[in-house]
Amino acid sequence: DAVRPLVQRYGSASIKRLPPRPADSFKNQFGHILIVGGDSGFGGAALMAAQSSARAGAGLVSLATRPGHLGAALTRCPEVMAHPVVSGQELEPLLIGPDVIAVGPGLGRSPWSEQLLARVGRTGSPLVVDADALNILAQGRVLAGVKRDDWVLTPHVGEAARLLGCDTVEVCADLRASAAAVQHKFSGVVILKGAGTLIAHDGGVDLINSGNPGMASGGMGDLLTGIVAALIGQHLPLVEAARLAVWLHGEAGNRAAADGQRGLLATDLLPWIRRLVD
Ligand code: AMP
Ligand code: MG
Repeated sequence: DAVRPLVQRYGSASIKRLPPRPADSFKNQFGHILIVGGDSGFGGAALMAAQSSARAGAGLVSLATRPGHLGAALTRCPEVMAHPVVSGQELEPLLIGPDVIAVGPGLGRSPWSEQLLARVGRTGSPLVVDADALNILAQGRVLAGVKRDDWVLTPHVGEAARLLGCDTVEVCADLRASAAAVQHKFSGVVILKGAGTLIAHDGGVDLINSGNPGMASGGMGDLLTGIVAALIGQHLPLVEAARLAVWLHGEAGNRAAADGQRGLLATDLLPWIRRLVD
């Protein structure tokens, strides 16, 4: 089963897969997304994931993060409901309302981070798992041996190597096999990110070529996490959400790079995400 390039089938027409917004729409029809992350020093990652969820059409977005990040979150994105969390216990009530939980952007690898991931892992909501949540998962102390059909894992090659317990060089030597191996180990849907992103699922491995090298800069992956969560919240099946999110993210990167690839910022993509989902 060779890699199937999906780029032909993914274009602006794919946005029609999102549910229409009729005149009498209300916000809870379009998903409540909770972003969990932002340990001390990494608050921006979680906030960018929250912003991209909002720009990808989520009805409501909440953010659970370190108290020190609340002021910045409210200033940069007052639409996001930002909650201070100093322990896993404080996270508990926040896990009840949301339709989708995305964990990992800026999560860090401290005891705080591990507690939060452990609590998130016990919920029955669909999950998007990224960044340090993947690194903690790879260490095997939290959620050891867990496989879920209702999660999307979004590793880059370094994170994929840690998840597989191998070297990055080995992952790069056969990206398709590596994406499939991560999916086999953890189930669900795996987005192996890079210049050309692979999506591994029960039915095989797809390739979506979108984006550009200007996107090789901090924060880009955090945006993708927020978009995937927002599309799941808008009722796309996990595989569809993954494919459309990867295309949208890359296309937003291409549009934003019309002003130049070098110096492109992750937050430059946000207005384009909005235009593309319309
Ligand atoms: P992360 O490493 O988690 O910040 O994720 C980076 C994001 O940017 C992923 O979605 C990558 O697919 C994308 N990206 C990074 N470099 C490139 C590139 N050279 N071409 C296309 N997309 C890229
Ligand atoms: Mg990342």
